[in-house]
Amino acid sequence: MDIIPLHLGVSHFHSPAVATQALQEALAQHNTYYGPNEGLPELRYALAQRYLEDEGLPIPAEQILITHGAKHALHLYLYSLLQPGDEVVALAPYWFAFPELIRQSGGKLVTVPANPAQDYALDLDLLRQKLTPTTRLLLLTNPGNPTGKVYSPTELQHVAQLLEEFPNLHVLSDEIYDGLSYEAPVHSFLRFEPLRDRIAVVNGFSKSFAMSGWRLGYLIAPFPILTKAMELQQKWISGVSPFLQAGAVAATQHRHQIWREFKQDLEPKRQRLLAALRQMPKLGFTVPQAGYYVTLQLEGCLKPQDASSPFQLAEEWAAALKDQVGLEVLPGTNMGMPHAVRMSFALPEEVLDSAILRLKAFVS
Ligand code: PMP
Repeated sequence: MDIIPLHLGVSHFHSPAVATQALQEALAQHNTYYGPNEGLPELRYALAQRYLEDEGLPIPAEQILITHGAKHALHLYLYSLLQPGDEVVALAPYWFAFPELIRQSGGKLVTVPANPAQDYALDLDLLRQKLTPTTRLLLLTNPGNPTGKVYSPTELQHVAQLLEEFPNLHVLSDEIYDGLSYEAPVHSFLRFEPLRDRIAVVNGFSKSFAMSGWRLGYLIAPFPILTKAMELQQKWISGVSPFLQAGAVAATQHRHQIWREFKQDLEPKRQRLLAALRQMPKLGFTVPQAGYYVTLQLEGCLKPQDASSPFQLAEEWAAALKDQVGLEVLPGTNMGMPHAVRMSFALPEEVLDSAILRLKAFVS
């Protein structure tokens, strides 16, 4: 039986043609040597323009470090900020790579669960209970992976208030899915200008631009931290290939058209999947407001809630789903959601239709 990969973190889109053309032109012009460590001025400027045009936020281009993917930006930032033993509070569920990135940087992960029954709304009281005067960092993923949660301006405002209450605290907002929001625009955490000496944003081209193999990301951080991150990049790996960055400039300049096209494809798929899930009462789910994942709550398919179920763990359910109907999903244990799985709907139409039929057959 063929396996349908619903577990992947990449979409079915090709990288945007404007990006691949710009890359080819840069190659034809022999733009193939070392570039500046901090990134091409053209790309840093295009990204600064993006925040100015889209959100009215003046970000100096010098405050943007171009990195080898968003994961690298996260690592550079965490390594620059954290001292051994520093606590990092993250809202669960979270992207599965965060715990290891935090550990590698000397930090200690503290998680605050968000409730799927409340659409993963920010639980401010719970969050406040986990913060101490020495907590170094609050890690926000907006939009969320795996949840697809987009934080409202009020929720962001509440987080910003925490920065005022806890003067030692920094916030890092990972906004890598921000171009793929279906209902409301994603507000960058950079909007809290007076607190910018403790705010950082990581973003990149892997998700909203379907350019995961290009390994292009960026970090916007307060200058003392950014300077350290730049030094580390210089020592460890040097700047990103200039011809790749030429592609990213074109993608950034054409972002609205690219995001419109991607969402025109994804939105009917999101709706089709949600409509099908409403017919599968054993599966719980929340409506993703952005990105291309749905989290499925499995309590209704596992013991003890379903006494006749052979499964106790999400891993067992996922393994049987793969064996019996050829659907591969991502169990949520290492994403802070032990009774849930993540599935993607960024697939060709006929593949998604087939996946829905198989899922229906498996759960009924
Ligand atoms: N942050 C989040 C929330 C992600 O989901 C991912 C990719 N899965 C990344 C960062 C890393 O992106 P990149 O491919 O640019 O390293």
